[in-house]
Amino acid sequence: MITTELSNVGEIIQNQREFFQTGKTKDVTFRIEQLKTLKQAIIEHEQAIVEALQADLHKPQVETYITEISVIKEIDYAIKHLQNWSKPKKAAVSWDFFSYSAKIYPEPLGVVLIIGPWNYPFQLIISPLIGAIAAGNCAILKPSEIASHTSDIVAKIIAKHFDPAYIAVVEGGVEASQKLLAEKFDHIFFTGGTAVGKIIMAAAAKHLTPVTLELGGKSPCIVDTDINLEHTVRRITWGKFINAGQTCIAPDYLLVNKKIKKDLIDGLAKSLKEFYGDNPINSPDYARIISQKHFDRLVNFLKDVEVIIGGENQPSERYIAPTVIDHVSLEDPVMEEEIFGPILPIIEYTDIAEAIALINSRPKPLALYLFSQDKNLQKRVLQETSSGGVCINDTVMQVGVSSLPFGGVGDSGIGNYHGKASFDTFSHKKSVLQNSFWLDLKWRYAPYQGKLPLIKKLLG
Ligand code: NAD
Repeated sequence: MITTELSNVGEIIQNQREFFQTGKTKDVTFRIEQLKTLKQAIIEHEQAIVEALQADLHKPQVETYITEISVIKEIDYAIKHLQNWSKPKKAAVSWDFFSYSAKIYPEPLGVVLIIGPWNYPFQLIISPLIGAIAAGNCAILKPSEIASHTSDIVAKIIAKHFDPAYIAVVEGGVEASQKLLAEKFDHIFFTGGTAVGKIIMAAAAKHLTPVTLELGGKSPCIVDTDINLEHTVRRITWGKFINAGQTCIAPDYLLVNKKIKKDLIDGLAKSLKEFYGDNPINSPDYARIISQKHFDRLVNFLKDVEVIIGGENQPSERYIAPTVIDHVSLEDPVMEEEIFGPILPIIEYTDIAEAIALINSRPKPLALYLFSQDKNLQKRVLQETSSGGVCINDTVMQVGVSSLPFGGVGDSGIGNYHGKASFDTFSHKKSVLQNSFWLDLKWRYAPYQGKLPLIKKLLG
């Protein structure tokens, strides 16, 4: 269903520009009201959201609550802090500016475009919207057409609770994206793959539109010997196989100290059984692959590799069992692109230097995981690697901490959001300097003759 005819895109943007010009969104009370409306709308449609995600991804209800509907926490956080975030902040001035005062005013950007992916299709379109509303913008949302049921429910919720001149949804695929990208926006917030990210940035460049790119990549997970094995395997199993591995910050592959590899593999087998039973296809708690195309791509990874756990699949259900593979070579296709599915390769190391060198030889990942209690090792990995974020002794949980900016670096993205970072992403920081009239020193005015020694002194 296309809620908004594509031919109307220009008109929606024009209407939003006019609405923005009224100045209504600059009122912080208005923004708080809209955030409250959004929260209520989500609560009201909880069941429909659960059903949409079940239809798109066979997403278990509990996972929908903890990874999609939990976006409500972000709304509460924004409501709590918005008055403070939106206040102008005093900035210090140096002594030679003694007659001046300086302030930074956060101001909304205008009309923003938010393009979402299919893997957490509700949360990843609503979470940036919270930042856009909090910062006082109008917004157009383009959910992923691949998670079509969720796209529909997002469109229904927004159309029911918001004026399209303020927030509108445009449904559709590449064609809809392209139509939108041809227009000028004041910011584009994109979540998706690196290849499409480049297309978005090229389109934005034509209008000099700033972008936030929340991309993906291969997030490594280092496992040292100094760990609680039972907790480690459970946390890795959860982070890797939640949503059947279709998580941008899922551990993509394991880098395991050789000494603990066997115990780790035994532990993973045990925790997988604990989570999903003997036959995960029958588990109500295990998701499915989003589409035939992604299913085929993942099944191809399993050709000519050594499967040590799982490996079964069922094309009619787009089911792939939680799978662990060993003795993986860096040239295997599974190590050449982001897996984004329930396949976990294991690579062993004897010295941490090898693991660090491998990570540093590849594009910077979105997340890096380290399981180790060894403080020196933690320090070394933090110092010698670069990634969007790091989580030590756990997986994926970093995404739930509103005070931590979330985003990539290098190939894994540009910019960040969540909590205050979302507000900042959708705000312009307007610097305002004010002088007074009680004094007017003439050192900077022409004629300059004889003033150089004083200027040199001031600069020195
Ligand atoms: P995708 O890049 O294929 O699609 C994302 C969005 O872009 C969709 O709305 C789609 O309609 C649109 N799109 C696709 N092709 C386009 C084109 N040629 N021109 C314009 N728009 C186009 O991504 P996806 O498959 O939906 O999601 C998977 C990727 O997203 C993975 O790489 C994953 O790591 C990444 N991801 C990142 C985050 C994050 O927070 N950093 C979160 C989730 C997913």
